[in-house]
Amino acid sequence: MAACGWLFLIFAFFVGASLGSFAGAAACRAEAGEKWWGLERSRCVSCGAVLAPRDLVPVLSFIALRGRCRFCGARIPVRDFIAELACGVLCAVFFLRFGFSYSFLFSSASLLFLAFHTLTDAETGYIYDSWAFAMAGAGLALRLAGGASAVIDGAAGAAAGFCFIWAVVLLSRGRMGTGDAVLMLGVGAFTGLKFAAAALYAGFLLGCAAVLPLLAAGKVTRKTAVPLGPFLCAGCAAAFIFGGSAAGFFGFSVPWPWGA
Ligand SMILES: [Zn+2]
Repeated sequence: MAACGWLFLIFAFFVGASLGSFAGAAACRAEAGEKWWGLERSRCVSCGAVLAPRDLVPVLSFIALRGRCRFCGARIPVRDFIAELACGVLCAVFFLRFGFSYSFLFSSASLLFLAFHTLTDAETGYIYDSWAFAMAGAGLALRLAGGASAVIDGAAGAAAGFCFIWAVVLLSRGRMGTGDAVLMLGVGAFTGLKFAAAALYAGFLLGCAAVLPLLAAGKVTRKTAVPLGPFLCAGCAAAFIFGGSAAGFFGFSVPWPWGA
């Protein structure tokens, strides 16, 4: 890769890491029942010290501070670091896959929401409706660039994802929450109809791959509530990356913007 290609790749990594960092802070505030918007300065959760910009550089600050607060020495939550790193890597992969294109814009923007839902669902088993609706709104708004058919495709993906999970919830007789259905509204608006199916397929596959070994080892029972949201989010990212190839394999056309 040419030098400027590497520069763009590093840029993509830090865009993703910044989105992951913001999602981590927003998830933390949402779980604490605080408002996550506004211009309040970020603070250490242990000592309350106002953090300087050098403490807030995604990924690098955590490494430079060796995972501890500069002021009180308390451990910085490692999940925030993992969220930053994972979003950075995913965004770089999206850039490698799509280059500068609408596909890259869609997939990278979705990381903010995917990271937020993954964190809150894994931590508390709760999907925040407001964030799922905001994700759906953002997805449909981005689709305006592709014209009416692109917006309709997003609405169809959202509706199909919602109805599919809703049907699973009914069949499971309440063992599954309806939050995942609302989450699929957001995912479907970004993916469109065909890739929503791919995201669901990949999400359930990843969920089974993670849970079956735990079941076999007796670490979880069939009654344990395992959050599905993180797997649906991972399935969404997988659909972005592999959906085009899968569609080609099965002889389907690739819908906008994923054909770029
Ligand atoms: Zn501190």
